[in-house]
Amino acid sequence: MFDIATLLVSFTAVELIMSVVLLLFTATGQKVKGIMELALALLIGSLGSVLAFLATNPPPNRFYLYTASLCFVVGVLLSARAMRHLQYFARRKLLETLCLGCAVVFNGWFILVHSNAVGMFTVNSALFAVIGAFSAVDLLREKRPDLKPGCRLLGVLFALFAGFMALRAAIRPFLENGTGVLPQVTLIDTLAALVALAAAILWAVGFLWTVYGASEYRLRRANADLERFTGTVAHDLKAPLSSITGFLGILKRSPKAMDPEKSQEYLGLANDAAWRMNEIIDDLLDQATNANHQQLFARVDANCCSRDAIKNLQFQIKRLGGTLSVQDLPVVWGNKTQITRLFQNLYDNAIKYQDPAQALEINVNATCQDEIVTFAVADNGIGVPDGANDRIFDYMQRVGDTETVSGVGLGLSECRRIVENHGGVIWLDPASNGGSTFYFTMRRSNPKT
Ligand code: ADP
Repeated sequence: MFDIATLLVSFTAVELIMSVVLLLFTATGQKVKGIMELALALLIGSLGSVLAFLATNPPPNRFYLYTASLCFVVGVLLSARAMRHLQYFARRKLLETLCLGCAVVFNGWFILVHSNAVGMFTVNSALFAVIGAFSAVDLLREKRPDLKPGCRLLGVLFALFAGFMALRAAIRPFLENGTGVLPQVTLIDTLAALVALAAAILWAVGFLWTVYGASEYRLRRANADLERFTGTVAHDLKAPLSSITGFLGILKRSPKAMDPEKSQEYLGLANDAAWRMNEIIDDLLDQATNANHQQLFARVDANCCSRDAIKNLQFQIKRLGGTLSVQDLPVVWGNKTQITRLFQNLYDNAIKYQDPAQALEINVNATCQDEIVTFAVADNGIGVPDGANDRIFDYMQRVGDTETVSGVGLGLSECRRIVENHGGVIWLDPASNGGSTFYFTMRRSNPKT
């Protein structure tokens, strides 16, 4: 049903169509890493099919066959390089040079010197198996969430291709007995041509699907970041704003009766809170405009961050009473404004979720082990309901009494984002009895030095 000549013609047509599809994709202005290599691979593959077709027509032409075999090897190497570029990896120069060198030398030896097509099939199948296996491993190892689903699919396709070619390389030399063309030889060569045809179509489709999936993922992430950004701006500005309005409110209500020193103190506190709002806005703007999310990190005294956070919540703390005791905290590697917002969110929650039956107590300390500092923020509040220890860190997740206590479920998700941005982890002590203890880790120095 499938004679090799028909397959070679179909192969040429399919590869040409697929390369045009890929080139059209780039013509729409899309800058996709690896797409040009894949289009070129398909073009060279189709040239190889034309040459192989001409070589099989009588009289057999060894040079056509030799050039066709090299075209197929170059096509597969370029496809593998396209996949590496898709994953933002550099090309494997050594593998490419070795494979091309082997193809030139061994195919030349088998076809040009000995007119031995079996040797050529075996060498090429072995080379395809090696190139396919390397690509499969790279693709299946992909961890980045935008590329992972597409790369998994491509990895499986490359692995199947490599597996078939390895099988062919292993059995092809033993199928021939020199007495004409045997049915099993025709079968495996036809199968090989079909596998190559399927690979050409599926690699191109899989590649485009991966690119599409990755862009869609990045778009969703960007939208989520924007939504989160708007939410956190409002959420984190609320604490210092409450201090400003609170202290100014007191001054407004009793301007004459108030002792001038006290009114100066309140004005000073309101002014400090306004400056801290300014810092938060600057930091948020930095995050919004910094496309690489490369925040300015430095050695930061965690005591200062905790002190600034307490100042932001001054009004709430004064109003509710209670004690907030902070032990001496170490210097860590991070972004000062972000760490301040982290403490602010944790203290704010401890205040919000306090137990009305007892005076509020918040204890903060840190322990160092080698490079890692573990901070603990413990309160004697109402505690987090059972089974919600992980869920509370999710975006817009609220648990427990959501009616009487105000909130939108942004504070802890922002805490987790900040801690993870600093390469740390945050968790709630599952054993905290009658209160909550939040732990988070930070590094003491720049991990890159
Ligand atoms: P919000 O406080 O705006 O609801 P958060 O993300 O800060 O959002 O907190 C999520 C949930 O975690 C809250 O709804 C609350 O039930 C719980 N929670 C957070 N901190 C504490 C705490 N210190 N004590 C008790 N429950 C807390």
